[in-house]
Amino acid sequence: MRFLIEKESKSSQARIGKIILPHGEVETPAFMPVGTQGTVKTMSPKELKEIGVQIITANLYHLYLRPGIEVIEKGGSISEFISFHRPVLTDSGGFQIASLSPLISIKDDGIQFKSHIDGSTHFFTPENVVIYQEKIKSDIGMCLDICLPYPVEYNEAKRASEKTIEWAKKSKKIKSEEFNLFCIIQGATYLDLREKATKELLDIGFDGYAIGGLFLGETPKLSYEIVAFCNNLIPKEKVRYVMGCGYPEDILECVKLGTDLFDCVLPTRNGRTGTAFTSEGRIIIKNAKFEKDFSPLDPNCDCYTCQNFSRAYLRHLFISEEILGPRLLTYHNIYFFIKLMEKIREAILKDQFEEFYNNFKRQYNRNLI
Ligand SMILES: [Zn+2]
Repeated sequence: MRFLIEKESKSSQARIGKIILPHGEVETPAFMPVGTQGTVKTMSPKELKEIGVQIITANLYHLYLRPGIEVIEKGGSISEFISFHRPVLTDSGGFQIASLSPLISIKDDGIQFKSHIDGSTHFFTPENVVIYQEKIKSDIGMCLDICLPYPVEYNEAKRASEKTIEWAKKSKKIKSEEFNLFCIIQGATYLDLREKATKELLDIGFDGYAIGGLFLGETPKLSYEIVAFCNNLIPKEKVRYVMGCGYPEDILECVKLGTDLFDCVLPTRNGRTGTAFTSEGRIIIKNAKFEKDFSPLDPNCDCYTCQNFSRAYLRHLFISEEILGPRLLTYHNIYFFIKLMEKIREAILKDQFEEFYNNFKRQYNRNLI
């Protein structure tokens, strides 16, 4: 892969760039909708492209268990198998293993876990997750890491951070020359652990650096502090990725701190459960106040949902549990995130990022409206 920085903001660390990958190009800063099982829930690849999605993420843990690496490999690649034909980043699944499987045990040389589908036992090593991701031709693969919940004791965070570095070293060793592999910086909320991890991972050398284990319940201020700290240590020519950062206000803040990639389940999960992101903040469509509201979901949005349907109708779909409701809200939410990133890039390009940032903060309500 190649990463080209096209413009840097004068007033902050924000920058726009382009990542050139086997299945296409990605303009950064970019938001990657999550397609855990090889599908961005309820959306067809045609719709994703219509919205302007340039890259999605998928999850190795889920794909390995079902349909299995061999099936995807025979399907050509993950991108071809799911008929997206654009870049796909795969996460190795440390986070999912930790959150889904109560029967996980972290060994010296990998993670042993029981399948959440049939209870069978499996073992992920730093080496085999790279091999699997190479087999399914992910555009970007992630190293196996240990992601702990928040809050976590210092010593436990230290062990996880150090093990993640050790595994990253093994992953780098086994990967083929042309495979794009990102490492993950762990260390919870402890700056000294984050510093040690970032420096050691820089010594090993990766195509991109992800900051993991944040936005798990700590205050946004603390998350920003850690992102700023790590981003400052990562040379600017490297791709910086903050994992799991998904509220628009958090994305904007992390862009300001020099972040290039984001992923989060928020737009899709919230879309399915009836919460829409709008230019003024989030709304719950089922609320009674929308019963006779014939205005669009977001008056400032020109997506298919907002151009054609009223809040009253969308509310009706959710109340009647019709499948079109989650589809239309997911469509709008992804559109909202993709347009937000486009506007951010445009603002940086025109040297108006500071202005955009201030306007957004004035207009957008962090709380439900
Ligand atoms: Zn819309």
